[in-house]
Amino acid sequence: MTHLFHRQLRQTLPEAASAKGLYITDTAGKTYLDACGGAAVSCLGHNHPDVIAAMAAQMARLDYAHTSFFTTRVAEELADTLIAQAPEGISHVYLLSSGSEAMEAALKMARQYFVELGQPRRTNFIARRQSYHGNTLGALAVGGNAWRRAQFAPLLIDVTHVAPCYEYRDRLPTETPEQYGQRLVRELEAELLRLGPDTVIGICAEPVVGATLGAAPPVPGYFQGIRALCDRYGVLLIADEVMCGMGRTGTLHALEQEGIVPDIMAVAKGLGGGYQAIGAVLAHGRVYDAFDSGSGQFMHGHTYIGHPVACAAALEVQRVLQREKLVEASRVQGLALRRKLDAALGGHAHVGDIRGRGLFLALELVADRASKQPFDPKLRLNGRIRDEALARGLMVYAMGGTIDGRHGDHVLLAPPFTVQERDLDTLVERLAESVEAALAGLPA
Ligand code: PMP
Repeated sequence: MTHLFHRQLRQTLPEAASAKGLYITDTAGKTYLDACGGAAVSCLGHNHPDVIAAMAAQMARLDYAHTSFFTTRVAEELADTLIAQAPEGISHVYLLSSGSEAMEAALKMARQYFVELGQPRRTNFIARRQSYHGNTLGALAVGGNAWRRAQFAPLLIDVTHVAPCYEYRDRLPTETPEQYGQRLVRELEAELLRLGPDTVIGICAEPVVGATLGAAPPVPGYFQGIRALCDRYGVLLIADEVMCGMGRTGTLHALEQEGIVPDIMAVAKGLGGGYQAIGAVLAHGRVYDAFDSGSGQFMHGHTYIGHPVACAAALEVQRVLQREKLVEASRVQGLALRRKLDAALGGHAHVGDIRGRGLFLALELVADRASKQPFDPKLRLNGRIRDEALARGLMVYAMGGTIDGRHGDHVLLAPPFTVQERDLDTLVERLAESVEAALAGLPA
């Protein structure tokens, strides 16, 4: 009998007891290779002594100071560090405690920006189908995951959704990747014009789509096209780098690889690496300036923002990433993992696509490779793979094709950047076995 209100009321979970490096150990002594960093969170692995020491020292110095009374050295240093590494033009950091909070703050910051500028008519957001931006109501509204939204739809603000960039299924055989990207940008422009560009606050997108599509990267030129639209119509580009950011794709920020800078960027997960609950909004100078020369206050805030211990953890995570050159490791080990996946599963009859960037990779499973026909969502193939992997001591983030029946089950891999060659071999071996076992377990 449990008094804990679990996510899944009828699922019995192993009890995690301890963790070190890439492995979590349960109370029965079984170890699990954390091949997904939980949900792409653990970038340094578990129990890094430097992060623990930094948190302990901070806790002993100053546990908590509310941000309406004080600033703290550790929060200021974290902001300095994030801005020193940020793309040109990004100037300020607003701290939060999760990815959803970061997205909520991003949406409200974008809205208030236009109020500060004297453009209160701007009330619309455009986002993309098959996207995930968090589970709070604002973030859920911009999210395009129909399955997660369905029962809350009557409570959500109005957001229009356009197609995501999903090359595996949506690029026509007659199109180059660039032409496909330009077609999507034209569709987005048509939606902007339909709404009236002077009513639109911003366009929200995950640069590399995580939870709903499985590490789906953009095609060349796509985000440049969106940036150009935003500039033409005075609309903000809001990048959700909660999952794909902070080194996960092999560069610190995923949009660096597209050669553009967003106006507002949300980060979380890898920011604190799982050591503490922390997120942040990174704002471009022009956004900050509107507040600075306007009302001088952002109408937003939470009790635990800028928590000193969370800041100490995030600051040390960033220092370890730099010291140990782990963003580069994410890129290099990502290429190695990709090669191993291609070798082990690339020719598999039910692996339709292997994609992603850095240590943010996914398999999409299909019933038929030629037609890309997904498995029936009722078969719950993703859940079966997850369970088979867990039985083999492997954690993978498997999600369903349940959203609109249009895409297959996928398995997301996002191991810590400290992963070594031999861990990758173990990972791929256990994954291949788990996929086989899950397929073999499907009803005939
Ligand atoms: N945005 C994206 C892209 C995410 O992947 C997630 C979490 N999976 C969130 C926002 C929400 O973050 P959190 O779970 O920390 O609230």
